[in-house]
Amino acid sequence: MARDAIQLVWLKRDLRLSDHLPIWEASQSGATVVMFVFEPKLWAMPELDRPHFDFIVQSLEELSAKLLAIGGRLAIRVGELPDVFVELASKYDIAGLYSHEETGNRFTYDRDRAVARWARHSGVTWKQYTQNGVVRPLKGRDGWAAIWHKRMTAPIAPSSNRMVIPTEFDWGVMPTGQELGLSSQQKLRVQTGGESRAKEVLGSFLSVRSVNYRRGMSSPVTAPDDCSRLSPYLAWGCLSMKSAYQGLMAREKELREAPVGSIDSRWFGSLKSFSSRLAWHCHFMQKLEDEPALEFENISRVYDGLRENEFNQERFEAWKSGNTGYPMIDACMRALAQNRWINFRMRALLMSFASNHLWLHWRPTAVHLAKYFLDFEPGIHFSQCQMQSGTTGINTIRIYSPAKQVSDQDPTGEFIRRYVPELEQVPNEYLPEPHRMPMHVQSQVGCVVGRDYPFPIVDHRTAYRMAQERIFAIRQTEAAIDESKRVYQKHGSRKKRDPLPKPKSIPKPKEKSDLRQLFLFDDSHEENP
Ligand SMILES: Cc1cc2nc3c(=O)[nH]c(=O)nc-3n(C[C@H](O)[C@H](O)[C@H](O)COP(=O)(O)OP(=O)(O)OC[C@H]3O[C@@H](n4cnc5c(N)ncnc54)[C@H](O)[C@@H]3O)c2cc1C
Repeated sequence: MARDAIQLVWLKRDLRLSDHLPIWEASQSGATVVMFVFEPKLWAMPELDRPHFDFIVQSLEELSAKLLAIGGRLAIRVGELPDVFVELASKYDIAGLYSHEETGNRFTYDRDRAVARWARHSGVTWKQYTQNGVVRPLKGRDGWAAIWHKRMTAPIAPSSNRMVIPTEFDWGVMPTGQELGLSSQQKLRVQTGGESRAKEVLGSFLSVRSVNYRRGMSSPVTAPDDCSRLSPYLAWGCLSMKSAYQGLMAREKELREAPVGSIDSRWFGSLKSFSSRLAWHCHFMQKLEDEPALEFENISRVYDGLRENEFNQERFEAWKSGNTGYPMIDACMRALAQNRWINFRMRALLMSFASNHLWLHWRPTAVHLAKYFLDFEPGIHFSQCQMQSGTTGINTIRIYSPAKQVSDQDPTGEFIRRYVPELEQVPNEYLPEPHRMPMHVQSQVGCVVGRDYPFPIVDHRTAYRMAQERIFAIRQTEAAIDESKRVYQKHGSRKKRDPLPKPKSIPKPKEKSDLRQLFLFDDSHEENP
């Protein structure tokens, strides 16, 4: 007996119905099965955590309801790939496999290759569609920005308003987190998933919140409201990058056409900054697409051996639990553990501190942050972590003063006091460095350093100097300069057309408060807001 033919849509990081070309094209070709597969081996990876699972389930539940409304249904499977497809092919004639391209980690890359082999052997045509600005394969970085722009301004994919499904099909059930070995639900303040929520967040940002974006993005006090908060929706595909970009363009036009004087002029600068960041999203993902090894290896190989053999577990534990004795670092890590989001500047601070002050190799610290970032996007994440660790060879190296970040970004201590209650009564002047509080003040405020809050785990000035010297010792070599040219050629943003500047001498800090940044190379100012 002839088996029923199905068009199989394999959902990955594209949990939406709108602007979804694979769903649209499959639904035009016959009985369609839209399927999400929970892969136990992927969920066993340390980068994924319960909040990722909950976010995905929330997004899938909404998608399921939307499919039902047009006559479709969502299929769920738990299993490895391509095994799930092999099993399906034993019962159905898979007339076509449709998915978006994915720039994921090594696991998903290897799994995609296995699926491609299975599809070839089984005579199944696997159509993969682009959903962002990542180009596969990319010949060279020249002209990349133009391709990105062309893709972002292309028409939104049509939406299916009717779907035919097979008469008989086992649609499966949503697994529980425990079935995938994930911890039980914790009480966290985490963003909720789903396409509708993504649209609401975009709407509230563009219509109201974005006015303060440029000014408010750096402080952990203002950033939760002033940043777009679109990252988990873009990372898991509840919103397409094209929809976000076109929404932004429409808003910009609206503002430009508003009566003169009726618009806060800060808005234009803010929207411009936001627009750049949407492009960076794909710019960073392109790096992983072009060089999958950067998930594990230094982008600039001359830095191999820099930190590998000096991993200090005690420092790692203190950093992970927010007990380093540096209030801004501890507040950021504890805030992240609760909210599973923190703004760019504080991510950079956390990573730079781990790599430069604590001299921890970026790989374990990046994995820990990935687990805590609801928006974990491998291409952005590993590239950014390497950037903050100084192992790309082409970016400005920034070593922040954690104390100065308190005065700059949280002068009233609102953020620190919220997340580090031990410091609640500490006067503002001592919040950057509580260990400098005179003993009588420590007793008065009930925060004795060493008993109620740790002493700084490392001395900032000593750690800064050591990191600066060790990185610079490599960076000034001919081999490093040659390697940086190779890296720039492959990954560098082409916005700034100047040839690579030669590293000069180590800049001397002018004063104590200036001990925060070390400028050497930069492939784009834009990558370091
Ligand atoms: C060490 C480190 C790790 C990071 N890991 C991730 C990650 O796993 N996933 C992730 O989405 N972002 C990551 N970022 C980039 C950035 O911090 C977040 O995208 C941003 O904070 C998310 O908040 P938002 O959506 O409100 O951003 P907004 O400032 O409103 O920006 C809008 C969107 O632009 C993109 N974007 C913003 N900043 C950057 C950037 N610097 N590089 C690339 N894309 C950017 C994101 O998609 C973001 O949602 C990382 C940054 C650092 C320093």
